[in-house]
Amino acid sequence: MKRLFSVLALLFATLVSWGQSNGYGWPMDIHPASFSSTYGELRRNHFHAGLDWRTNARSGYELHAIKGGYVCRLSVSPVGYGNAVYIQHPDGTMSVYGHMASFRDDLARRIRQEQYDKQSYRVVIYPDPDEFPVSKGDVIGLSGNSGSSGGPHLHMEIRKDGDNLPVNYLADGTYPVKDTKPPVISRVGFYAFEDSMAVPVVRRLQMISQPEKFKGTVSVSDKFYVAIDAVDYMEGTTGRLAVERYRVYLDSDKVYDFKVGDVPYSDGRYFACLVQQGEKGRDLLKTWCPPNNGLLYKIDAVNDGIITLEDDDAHTLKIVVADCFGNSASCSFNIKRDLRIKVFDPADTVGQFSVLWYVPSVYSRDGMTMTIPAMALNASAFVDCKKVARANPSLGRYSDTWSLGDESIHLQRRLKVRFATDSVPAALAGKAYIAQMAEDGTLSYAGNTPVEGGLEAETRFGTYLVMVDTIAPRLTPRVGDGEKLPESGRFSIEAYDGESEVAEYDARMDGKWILSQYVGGRIQIYPDESHRTGRSHNVYVSVTDHCGNSSAVEFEVIY
Ligand SMILES: [Zn+2]
Repeated sequence: MKRLFSVLALLFATLVSWGQSNGYGWPMDIHPASFSSTYGELRRNHFHAGLDWRTNARSGYELHAIKGGYVCRLSVSPVGYGNAVYIQHPDGTMSVYGHMASFRDDLARRIRQEQYDKQSYRVVIYPDPDEFPVSKGDVIGLSGNSGSSGGPHLHMEIRKDGDNLPVNYLADGTYPVKDTKPPVISRVGFYAFEDSMAVPVVRRLQMISQPEKFKGTVSVSDKFYVAIDAVDYMEGTTGRLAVERYRVYLDSDKVYDFKVGDVPYSDGRYFACLVQQGEKGRDLLKTWCPPNNGLLYKIDAVNDGIITLEDDDAHTLKIVVADCFGNSASCSFNIKRDLRIKVFDPADTVGQFSVLWYVPSVYSRDGMTMTIPAMALNASAFVDCKKVARANPSLGRYSDTWSLGDESIHLQRRLKVRFATDSVPAALAGKAYIAQMAEDGTLSYAGNTPVEGGLEAETRFGTYLVMVDTIAPRLTPRVGDGEKLPESGRFSIEAYDGESEVAEYDARMDGKWILSQYVGGRIQIYPDESHRTGRSHNVYVSVTDHCGNSSAVEFEVIY
């Protein structure tokens, strides 16, 4: 009887917890599994290379190795994947588990040792293959919300070719999930395109919401392209998921075909080339393939995705999108060429600076110099540069304020902004920095690298000026002096600098370095068993901003 039970239990475990095709097991005992984000979602500067597994909006689910192998990497960071485990499997694949709440004890000890050895919260460890072998189903830690995560979930990837090629393991049938729901095309934009000069010009013609209901005829210029906003749906989740394939037909000819997938990490940044810039809301995939695009080999497009009409006859433009389970949706438009549509108007480019994507460009006026490196832009473009306010030291503005380009445009490389600092008085030398001003007037630190006669910041398009910071950071401990710490030992100190922002900090307990991280405006401090004496400990935290102003707090805690 006992034996029969064991056999049944094993069979049950095999069916429910482990045995799936390709030999991968489930990472968590949450069934049926559901997802808040899937592979290939377009995100402004990259694509989503894994699946976000839902964890019922809470942390603490046991995470299991989906296959045997060994832990090949452990990483801890306040951003990105936060606490993450990487497992190398003997078949050459690797699985990655991100945003974890905590690591299994032996992994946690190894990490803590490394953090104290390096005196750094952020660590990456590559253990030897015999250090942490794992069997399929072994617990490696608990699910959480660490790093750049907007709520508790498991980000899990499967990679091939070393660690460079994240695969769409949902499409492979690795896990038996159900998806019979088709995607929805929610918006289609039409854009006139003119490239008779060195700098192409784009003009939005029309943005059509709920395109399947659209009846009329769209007037287009002789050259145009479209941008598509589509999301996929799936049983068991309200998540808006990624569409896998986009196809566009002019009458019966396919003019564009892109299937997301098998994009190596080294090319992931080019996803910005696929996104229509300057549109609000969710990103739209555009058919125009700009020239500085390392993903061209993945896209089957006629004439770089620019659709050309050579007559005034009525034509049909059809868009078909599909998810990775073969569910699809389509919409069609009647289109007609209208040669009266004017794409390029020289008046629009007055005062604009033309940037050719393949060479470096320098724009310099009145003590401000912007340098855009070659290959920063996806395509050549007119960049709007204007002085929006004059220097006024009595208001704290030590340079003119410059608006440089469109902040929403993603650059493949950072540009440099340099300001002369002659209007900064000698008494304030060393306290000046370049501030970035957001649309709502909020200021943030952009950089203050000293260069001859001024300062420089490596940054992106935006609005910049020189300011001065003489105010030290403000520190507010979240525990009272002499207070007893909670069981976990964790406590924090608010650290705020509204001018040049916190640049570095140092936390000590009883004079010795202690593990801590600066996250969300707070320095979180993590005492461990070695500190737990039940007695009073001296805490000393010092913080310095980017202009060298510092402050410190000292108090006692009982732990
Ligand atoms: Zn994710």
